[in-house]
Amino acid sequence: MTESEDSPALIVQTEQWEEGDSPYLSLTSRDLSNLADVMADLLASVGVKAKDRVLIYDFNTSISTLAMSRVFTPGLSEGVCERLECIAICTDGLSELAARSAYTFGLWQPEVLLIRSELASPFLAKLQGRSLQEADPNLRTVVAIHNDVVAWPRQIGLGPGRFEKRILCRVDPALFMCLVKPCGGIYYPRGRYRVDLDPESGTRLRVAPAFSPGRGTLVSNLEATAGGKDCGCGEGHEFVTEAPGF
Ligand SMILES: [Zn+2]
Repeated sequence: MTESEDSPALIVQTEQWEEGDSPYLSLTSRDLSNLADVMADLLASVGVKAKDRVLIYDFNTSISTLAMSRVFTPGLSEGVCERLECIAICTDGLSELAARSAYTFGLWQPEVLLIRSELASPFLAKLQGRSLQEADPNLRTVVAIHNDVVAWPRQIGLGPGRFEKRILCRVDPALFMCLVKPCGGIYYPRGRYRVDLDPESGTRLRVAPAFSPGRGTLVSNLEATAGGKDCGCGEGHEFVTEAPGF
């Protein structure tokens, strides 16, 4: 009996409670695990088996929904889906983004993954020891999306693999998006943006959307130098950055 099993893992508002009591139901991991046992037993007894697709239409805080899958219920390590190897469809559960994304990634094995760069580590953790390639043999391209509000990373941390690795940087207030090419060159559609080096720092990219002139110019955290013919790839990227490791 570990402490974590008995600590509240999830607190939900219930539809039914005793007079004078709280309408909130506090559930430990042990509670959730027991609920999953019960629900798996009940569903197995009506013939639910591996690969069955189970669609649920119920409130997301009902104990039967909470029991269904670890993807939807924080604090539940093995739900009905994991026990019976059935697939829950569209449960209106309490999503935990990392778990849900990793689960869906393994299930659909997509060709392309777009993932916010600082979520690399929680995402990999939910793959439970498998690499991206092992979890998804179809994977062809991974685009790590870097939001400029976070410091420019040295390492993304998605690990090696035989897929194309790309970094997309976005500066939301300036509606700016660019790709960092393997040469370090910064690619964006010419004509859509006005881009230069901020004269004050001399190293930060200053961006403005040409298609939304009222928005003004923004100094990003993206550090770059002038590239031109020297960028090395032959594409003549105007600006070059030190691309983070993948
Ligand atoms: Zn280049």
